[in-house]
Amino acid sequence: MHNRDHEVVWNDKKVHDIARVIKESNRILVGIGGGMPMAAGLNVLPLDKKLKAEEYWRFWYPYIQEQRLVKEVPAIYTQLAELLNGKDYFIIDSNPDGFIQKSGVELSRVYKAQGDMARMQCSQNCQNQSWIGKSHFEKMDKDASYQPVCPYCGAPMVMNVYVGKGFCQEAYQEKNSAYFHFINSSTKEPLVVLELGVGYTMPELIRFPFEQIVMNHPNATLVRINTMYPLCVEENKYKAICAEADIAEALPKILNALK
Ligand SMILES: [Zn+2]
Repeated sequence: MHNRDHEVVWNDKKVHDIARVIKESNRILVGIGGGMPMAAGLNVLPLDKKLKAEEYWRFWYPYIQEQRLVKEVPAIYTQLAELLNGKDYFIIDSNPDGFIQKSGVELSRVYKAQGDMARMQCSQNCQNQSWIGKSHFEKMDKDASYQPVCPYCGAPMVMNVYVGKGFCQEAYQEKNSAYFHFINSSTKEPLVVLELGVGYTMPELIRFPFEQIVMNHPNATLVRINTMYPLCVEENKYKAICAEADIAEALPKILNALK
């Protein structure tokens, strides 16, 4: 038996414990929360900011450009891709930015659970459809006052991201199924459940299900890296390696220990 104490202190032993379980497991389930872009030094804004319709795109489009279209991928994302290379993995990302898609991971293994700011939807979600924003963004480049409207009902278009009721999930359904397929087919062989920066903004999306998956799996290890909420539930304390650590410090060390 490995000694998997549930202390959250971040030290070299923890680095090596994490590296060991990753080495021993071919399957890795990854959950990325709001702590990941924060650790990468990205500017994370609350998506439910109250704006008048005419202010909406003037506010959000420059942000989308930065977060989704032009900015270079921060190192921790490519480090994560390197860590997963050669493994059978699946990623659930609660962030609507585009960094994980550009990190080098396989897109078929990424579920953007709360949408993607490069897509648009009708603010009324009248037809349960969403669209790639590109052609509209090009019009905004030429005319800052351009306001995209729904081709069906004429309502203003908004980012296809989760801000509560009316979120159009249509574009993510297939990956949602792939995510559940991955979980359901992870039954006996070793599984690492790697949770990065997932707090309590929407714990029912990643944090609580991950605890359940580990609880129900005979051979799973929860690896939780979190600066604010590193502790796991009591039932998982012998199946978890919890680290009160900055992802930007932890990932390079884990990668190094894997080499
Ligand atoms: Zn509509």
